[in-house]
Amino acid sequence: MSRAFNFSPGPAALPEPVLEQAQREMLDFRGAGASIVELSHRGPEFLEVAEAAERDLRTLVGIPDDYAVLFTAGGATTQQALMALNFADPGQPADYVVTGHWGQTALKQAAPWVDLRIAASSEGDGFRSIPPRDTWQLTDGAAYVHITANETIHGVEFRDTPDVGDVPLFADFSSSIASGPLDVSRYGMIYAGAQKNLGPVGISVVIVRRDLLERAGQPRAEIFDFRSQLAAGSMLNTPPTWNWYLLGLTVKWMLDEGGVEEFARRSEHKAKLLYAAIDGSGGFYRNDVDPAVRSRMNVPFFLHDDGLDGPFLAEAKEAGLISLKGHRVLGGMRASIYNAMPVEGVQALAAFMRDFQQRHG
Ligand SMILES: *Cc1c(COP(=O)(O)O)cnc(C)c1O
Repeated sequence: MSRAFNFSPGPAALPEPVLEQAQREMLDFRGAGASIVELSHRGPEFLEVAEAAERDLRTLVGIPDDYAVLFTAGGATTQQALMALNFADPGQPADYVVTGHWGQTALKQAAPWVDLRIAASSEGDGFRSIPPRDTWQLTDGAAYVHITANETIHGVEFRDTPDVGDVPLFADFSSSIASGPLDVSRYGMIYAGAQKNLGPVGISVVIVRRDLLERAGQPRAEIFDFRSQLAAGSMLNTPPTWNWYLLGLTVKWMLDEGGVEEFARRSEHKAKLLYAAIDGSGGFYRNDVDPAVRSRMNVPFFLHDDGLDGPFLAEAKEAGLISLKGHRVLGGMRASIYNAMPVEGVQALAAFMRDFQQRHG
């Protein structure tokens, strides 16, 4: 059996040791006589899994005690709606800094409930940059300022945490959480769908400053209420136990590998390799993002002739390099190089790109 180097943007590759452990524990979870998906979420086996996942995530990311952690069903898009329900009063303004597709999605999901303000946007340049902080138009009395830490499709990443004063900063870290050190205390809320860097699709992590949970927010059902979810240990109803378990294994693997400092080092190295292959190709390959904010996680690139896209993807697959097709809104190619992607995978891709250029250039 041979596994390919999988550059999928999400659901993305999981670390092999995680898949192997899940396989070993599939039929009989640690002597329970059943798999973890077949056991009650209120039983001792799953409660231990859930608690370990939170403990390890707190250690990995460095989450202070005055922040709550929720494990919620649904994706990052779900949290984009829930954030408006939980933290903005009806019709209250909320500021959005839009630097790509997921920033636009965040706007759309909050639209029914808040007075949306676009504090800054890079749409004018095709989402290839991040508007400088001193150009942002922040609104007095805004419920929060929302940013997308890493734009998974456009390949644009905040390298620093912007200062937004006393208004809580909310950030979508779906595709970059745990890829490097993060000062959680600078944020009001951080959320991430798990399927990029934390595990499988179907579960999200919400990290929220506890005092914000006292906000009134919008009328909402209990199931959409973060405060109620926290009181219930994220088990107001049956949680996605399998996803939570795999997330826990993935987080544990990252700790064992050396934590966020180590992944920051690897991510810099992998991204450098790939951008060097693109920039050094004399225009055969191209990435249009402002070099100061190029993503370390998602590298979109274009071939100089899109007639070569088909052969590139087919030959890459032959070479054991899969899921490189770009997102439909941009076209071209995209290599997603999350924590589970080894350096060897990126080296293989860079070598393939040079080889492909020689044969087709
Ligand atoms: C993938 C992604 C989303 C959407 O996640 P879903 O789980 O599909 O809702 C939102 N934001 C970012 C930054 C993403 O990478």
